[in-house]
Amino acid sequence: MAKGAKLPGSQPQYKPRRKESRTLKRKREEEELETLQKSALEFDASTLSQFSDLPLSRATAAGLDKSHFKVPTDIQRKAIPLALKGRDILGAAKTGSGKTLAFLIPVLEVLYRHKWTPEDGLGALIISPTRELAIQIFEVLRKIGQRHSFSAGLVIGGKNLQDERERLGRMNILVCTPGRMKQHLEQNPDLDTYNLQILVLDEADRILDMGFKDAIDAIVQGIPKDRQTLLFSATQTKNVNDLARLSLKDPEYVAVHESATSATPGKLQQHYIITPLPEKLDILWSFIRANVKSKILVFFSSTKQVRFVYETFRQMQPGIPLLHLHGKQKQTARLEITANFSNSKNSCLFATDVVARGLDFPAVDWVIQVDCPEDVDTYIHRVGRTARYERDGRAVLFLCPTEEKGMLARLQGKKVPIEKINVKQNKKQSVQNQLQGICFKDPEIKYLGQKAFTSYSRSVYIRKDREIFDLEKLPLQEFATSLGLPGAPRIKFLKGDDVKQRKNAPRGLLKDDDSSDGDESVEEEMKKEKKKEVRTKYDRMFERQNQNIFTEHYTEMIRHGEEEDEKDEDFLAVKGHGYGSDAEDGDDKAPGLKYIQVHGKDAMLVDSKRREKLATSKKAMLKYKGKGTKLVFDEEGEAHAIYEFEDEEEFKKAGDAEEQRGKFLAEEAKRVTVADEEDKSLAKEKKRAKKERQKARLLEDMEGEDDGDGDGFDGGVPLVPYVDYGRDDESEDEAPGLVEEDRPIKKQKKWFEDDEEEERKKAKKAKKKGKVVEMQEAPETLDDLEALAAGLLA
Ligand code: ADP
Ligand code: MG
Repeated sequence: MAKGAKLPGSQPQYKPRRKESRTLKRKREEEELETLQKSALEFDASTLSQFSDLPLSRATAAGLDKSHFKVPTDIQRKAIPLALKGRDILGAAKTGSGKTLAFLIPVLEVLYRHKWTPEDGLGALIISPTRELAIQIFEVLRKIGQRHSFSAGLVIGGKNLQDERERLGRMNILVCTPGRMKQHLEQNPDLDTYNLQILVLDEADRILDMGFKDAIDAIVQGIPKDRQTLLFSATQTKNVNDLARLSLKDPEYVAVHESATSATPGKLQQHYIITPLPEKLDILWSFIRANVKSKILVFFSSTKQVRFVYETFRQMQPGIPLLHLHGKQKQTARLEITANFSNSKNSCLFATDVVARGLDFPAVDWVIQVDCPEDVDTYIHRVGRTARYERDGRAVLFLCPTEEKGMLARLQGKKVPIEKINVKQNKKQSVQNQLQGICFKDPEIKYLGQKAFTSYSRSVYIRKDREIFDLEKLPLQEFATSLGLPGAPRIKFLKGDDVKQRKNAPRGLLKDDDSSDGDESVEEEMKKEKKKEVRTKYDRMFERQNQNIFTEHYTEMIRHGEEEDEKDEDFLAVKGHGYGSDAEDGDDKAPGLKYIQVHGKDAMLVDSKRREKLATSKKAMLKYKGKGTKLVFDEEGEAHAIYEFEDEEEFKKAGDAEEQRGKFLAEEAKRVTVADEEDKSLAKEKKRAKKERQKARLLEDMEGEDDGDGDGFDGGVPLVPYVDYGRDDESEDEAPGLVEEDRPIKKQKKWFEDDEEEERKKAKKAKKKGKVVEMQEAPETLDDLEALAAGLLA
């Protein structure tokens, strides 16, 4: 028998068996899903002691195991079984009690049970109030979802929506901040939320407050009403209006610590000290000096204070690494600082409330609140950055004498146990002289100090709780001196309606800064001021715009010269465009020049050969043709302009012109909106149909495929990150901590590998098949080419 020949009938026998095994496999999977669904519905939460007791997919169980999560926390124990049953949840549990897993596990399971594929589009949306928190949630998702085949993306602001459009359309899970998500939904037709199965709001009370109202309403409007919704926070909202906005269905309120004696973690020691405003920085400095071997997080109420204290204390060398973080920094800097603080053993981070919520910095020893938080909820979240997950921690609140009574009453009212401590006077060091010295030497820092002063004053002024915050009672002059300033800067108080608006505005809208400061740094502002003072003639020269380098006289000369030439060459002139000297037209065209009058209103000046040539190009001439007029035809076939003038008398009869105008505009706007909606939904419908087709094709293809790597998981796309974070100009690779090096799944496919890498892979693949001949350099000479050809033929 010839080598390799097959036994008669071996092929037909083999094929059906393989097909049979595939069908069996699929059947087994279906059964598995059904069992999972059934066990979830019947699951008795009282029997739960380990994650392995939960009816979870093998992929999630493996992810949890790999991340060393074994025993669920209280909130996880209560919330996960309910969420797996498909219930809407309002989850409330103290800071650091493991709420993230309580919603991420259900997210993965819901999609798994729906057999979600990339073609199904967006299945889960997780909203976070800050970028840093979104990144952190995304990291946890990647860890526990590493064995799943979903694609996941991070949408937290940045530039260039265009680049992201397509990628985003293929994501199954998105972790986002509200503003950026809204922007995408409005401008990106590839992003479709019609299929969304589960919506999660982390720090739900914050997301539902006024600052995010528009964005959340826009997001919720476009997603299906029958999706599942999970809301989590340490300070949960029970406000019916808020919940109605999200159309929750009979939500289960899961509050594990409601009967606890305190609203803050049990292992957190909380203290306050009474300090006059002008002594705050002395005490802060003394505290830092006494704790240089600790990890300290210090909260201020505004960006400018954070910067001032950071810049000055740095110069004074406290003997502990200093960091600062606020919302006005570039995104990459923010990421870097967050990572630095997370990884450091001892350092001191000055921050605004951007880090107050949700962030899980490991092992913070102290949380110091130099400025009184705006309310008790903010207090609870700030101190919650320490004493997380069974660790202990300490917190100190600085209170001005005028704030003591009001704030203590508020804290007591919300079950926050706090004790007064006194500062040892002999340990207190004054920094006023040093600050004065720094401000005197460096005008930029002095300027920053002034801004810090006004920002602080403003933050007190806009607070609603008048029993705590009263600007008039504060010793502002002494406060300014304590910052090293020669005198108290004038505070521009807002006038009239503005004040009311500001007072009633949600905190999300109240920038923690001078609104007039804008986003610009002090250096830029100072530069601007300097620029105003000294402007050289060169500055002025470069500032001039729309200037012609030739004088008018010279331009005229050229024109005349060309005209002479053209007389001789008339036979070359462009025909058929009403060409000629239009000086007598009587409009504002220069006399003696040639213009081409195309049917539109703008005439083209022909002042050079190039222009004459241009006139032969139909495309170029389009610009001068103006816009066509759209006509509509009546039943008799008569053409009419779309808007025709009506009889003046009749118009007057119909009422006031301005009113009519308003009405007309409103009607037209409505018409445009309707047309726009129709267009959008048509486009989406088409996309949907396309996706369905793609999915059907994929399923067909999968019929015959088994990835055969024996890992028990099908191939496909592993939980792949896509990141849209607020990059400023740096390349995506530079974001620390987002690109995982070795992902454990064997058959993985990165969505966004760069072209070079793809080329390399292709080459490698082809090489295996013996198809590629490698050359060190591109063929230049004939010899090179010959060598290449020979290689190819071989
Ligand atoms: P919260 O959102 O409630 O403030 P997180 O979800 O950020 O809390 O979790 C706080 C810390 O607890 C994190 O470091 C997390 O890794 C850890 N953690 C959460 N759940 C568990 C668990 N079941 N076992 C061990 N550690 C956990
Ligand atoms: Mg959290």
